[in-house]
Amino acid sequence: MVLAELGGRITRAIQQMSNVTIIDEKALNECLNEITRALLQSDVSFPLVKEMQTNIKKIVNLEDLAAGHNKRRIIEQAIFSELCKMLDPGKPAFAPKKAKPSIVMFVGLQGAGKTTTCTKYAYYHQKKGYKPALVCADTFRAGAFDQLKQNATKAKIPFYGSYTESDPVKIAVEGVDRFKKENCDLIIVDTSGRHKQEASLFEEMRQVAEATKPDLVIFVMDSSIGQAAFDQAQAFKQSVAVGAVIITKMDGHAKGGGALSAVAATKSPVIFIGTGEHMDEFEVFDVKPFVSRLLG
Ligand code: GDP
Repeated sequence: MVLAELGGRITRAIQQMSNVTIIDEKALNECLNEITRALLQSDVSFPLVKEMQTNIKKIVNLEDLAAGHNKRRIIEQAIFSELCKMLDPGKPAFAPKKAKPSIVMFVGLQGAGKTTTCTKYAYYHQKKGYKPALVCADTFRAGAFDQLKQNATKAKIPFYGSYTESDPVKIAVEGVDRFKKENCDLIIVDTSGRHKQEASLFEEMRQVAEATKPDLVIFVMDSSIGQAAFDQAQAFKQSVAVGAVIITKMDGHAKGGGALSAVAATKSPVIFIGTGEHMDEFEVFDVKPFVSRLLG
């Protein structure tokens, strides 16, 4: 189910309650069950949906609400705030500061959009007056360095990588050192993704993180991966200290649930979303406007 469709179904479920004379337990349950079904079909993980349902029932205590209270409005507000809560882990992500070197490491599975997103992130900050630089520590995928180089050149962002060196840790450290010397204040390290969650990928990520000591690790996730989102995000979080999430390909047939699940699994906020293949198809992610838009 695409995001707009999810929002539409939730809104309709709330509106349905206007058609009944009295909003009682039965009407509320019907509404919540429909929302539950819609969220599950949008790939939000089951425990998360269950928790949301319990919380809403706690907030909306029908018996305690005096007659005359606009129950529908109260339910609507509870749903809005629960959806926001699901997307807000309660602590903001690390924000790089100008004129002080920050190291940001990108992790994610191959094809998630990591390399593209690294450049988008660099380009976004460059426009804000930062001095970003890109390091390609993906020695696994042939062509990774060329791709990064091409993107970086287009955006006029300095880059570092090697065609011959096979040790990603060595490249990462060399790149970070070089750009620190060149007074770059945002050093972005792109890592290998491999194609599945395998032990060697996580071990390599751990080593790169240990050697470069990133201020922030960003987990990049393809929005179309469906119910696998929660487990995948959690697996990454268990290996490296993920501090933020970027969801890519939100322009396609994106299921919104992945974003909700990734936040829950990593306890980290979504900071940007990718909305296309181009450099500027990248948006800051804000919880409240996102949920408002979702609910139309
Ligand atoms: P990596 O293997 O994780 O480094 O993934 P890449 O950066 O190579 O991206 C894989 C594919 O996804 C490429 O064809 C990108 O152009 C495409 N891609 C990345 N982000 C987005 C996005 O937000 N929207 C769309 N439509 N495509 C994207």
